[in-house]
Amino acid sequence: MGLIPEEKVEEIKSRADIVEVVSDFVTLRKAGRNFVGLCPFHQEKTPSFTVNPEKQIFHCFGCGEGGNAVTFLMKVNAMTYPEALRHLAGKMGIQIPRKPQPPGENQGVRSAILDLNEKAASFFTGNLQGPGGREVRDYLEKRGIREETLKAFRLGFARNEWTGLRKTLERGNIPLAMAQQAGLLLPREDGSLYDRFRGRVMFPIEDASGRVIAFGGRVIGDAEPKYLNSPETPIFVKGRNLFGIRQAKETIRRKGYAVLVEGYFDVISLWNAGVRNALASLGTALTTDQVHLIKRYTKDVAVIFDSDPAGRKALDRSLEMFLAADLEARAVFLPEGADPDDFVRSSGAEALEELVQRSPTFMDYYLETLAGSGTTIAARRSAAQGAVAMLAKVDDPIKRNLLLKRISEKTGLDQSVLKGQVRKVVEVEAGKVPVAEGSPKNPRTESNPLELDLVLLMMEYPFRIPDVAGSGVLEQFDAGTLKNFAETLVDTFSRDGRIDVSNLAMEIPEEGVRQKILKMLVQKQPLEETLVERYLWDSIGQIRRKWFRKQHEQLRRKLLSAQEREDGALCEALLREKEQLLNRERNLPKGI
Ligand SMILES: [Zn+2]
Repeated sequence: MGLIPEEKVEEIKSRADIVEVVSDFVTLRKAGRNFVGLCPFHQEKTPSFTVNPEKQIFHCFGCGEGGNAVTFLMKVNAMTYPEALRHLAGKMGIQIPRKPQPPGENQGVRSAILDLNEKAASFFTGNLQGPGGREVRDYLEKRGIREETLKAFRLGFARNEWTGLRKTLERGNIPLAMAQQAGLLLPREDGSLYDRFRGRVMFPIEDASGRVIAFGGRVIGDAEPKYLNSPETPIFVKGRNLFGIRQAKETIRRKGYAVLVEGYFDVISLWNAGVRNALASLGTALTTDQVHLIKRYTKDVAVIFDSDPAGRKALDRSLEMFLAADLEARAVFLPEGADPDDFVRSSGAEALEELVQRSPTFMDYYLETLAGSGTTIAARRSAAQGAVAMLAKVDDPIKRNLLLKRISEKTGLDQSVLKGQVRKVVEVEAGKVPVAEGSPKNPRTESNPLELDLVLLMMEYPFRIPDVAGSGVLEQFDAGTLKNFAETLVDTFSRDGRIDVSNLAMEIPEEGVRQKILKMLVQKQPLEETLVERYLWDSIGQIRRKWFRKQHEQLRRKLLSAQEREDGALCEALLREKEQLLNRERNLPKGI
């Protein structure tokens, strides 16, 4: 990594509070010593995602994900390790000295573009608030957009000039080539650079944690194109982001559903009217990545479509995606001719929420249209073919059978015939999904439960680590992950006089073992002081007994074969060994 000094990494890791970090993404409530919430890594209705503030770790009892604040951010936000650290540092106000970054290094480019976007966003908001922004402010005001909404979305203005942003960047000594790579500047034929966005209301496009990853610009008036977006850059892939996710995620969680609209302005206008769970795709048809992004926050999406044929076509396309992602989606059709902006402005937020509640699920909608799709057998058969293709996308066999039944009822086609067709389609596509149904994400890893118990005690009560080390029991561990990790605990404690559980646990290379340890740490109740000692020596005693039993068993077998071969010398040696083993067992240091 090399970009963040080691001591800063330590500071960030030791000061980060996992409850605070997770709370940006998951609504947590206190449950005993832990906090629980709905897991952002799998879909669930009852919380099994557990955060333990004392040990600074999380574990999901549903899907097995687990880790510390840094790994949480990496997973939930698709951040790299340094990005997660920088994000935490920013949250806690820890300054990271910037070392000059080697040019062309991807990591450097990514964070440079993020920095640059942040500066550009400030430049645009400054323009909007300044004297030159008067006309735009009037325009927005006429559309009913309040000050608070402008701030929430960090709306800005790119003045109608060729080099406004460029000059500002030049004054800040920011390399213009980077701004070109960020899609903010464009080259003229002579190679000089000019502003991409001119004479437009600017919408910063943020990721879930509020980093500006790109911009959208809308013309004021009738110029073309009406909307202009940043091009794709190292930090911006259109199909992977949703406009409004940072602002909406909290309400989406609270309300339990998201509203999906088409444009930025719809999101803003809905927010302005009090509908604060709206998202928009970024000038493209909805993608699978976007569907999965939504799924992190909710399983229920109300999709607002235009009531025209294009809108209905868009609905068909997204239905398959929602089904494949196992998302519950509702198809919301606004009254003829209305767009979301008109609708909330004339009817209000409650009316929209009511409309959403009354809207059919995609599936119901689909089945309704299917039923009305024709009276001839041929028409019904072709409708059924569409249904089969769609059903093949449904992974859950129970759900699939249920739908099959309904389709059969609607079309009058035989269930078993439909079933056979679906199976065929699934089998054809099965080549790309070799994973057996219901196979767990992480294969069960064998780890000796006695050793695991002792390692957990060491992690929970580090001041007992010297006792464990002194007992010599680690030599009696089976060779493997747990033994190595126990030795790391001993080394770390003797070096630092303390251990950082949440970070050390991440060093366990085997995922299965790591997850099991996190799970048990989250589950464990603290022991009474007197019991800690008892448990510890109990645990050591059990591992020892097991080890001795194994040694005796091995000796017994060797002895047996030596006797069979009538090898007197070997027999004698083995008997001496047995004697020594028994002596060792008798003279073990006792803890209590
Ligand atoms: Zn989970």
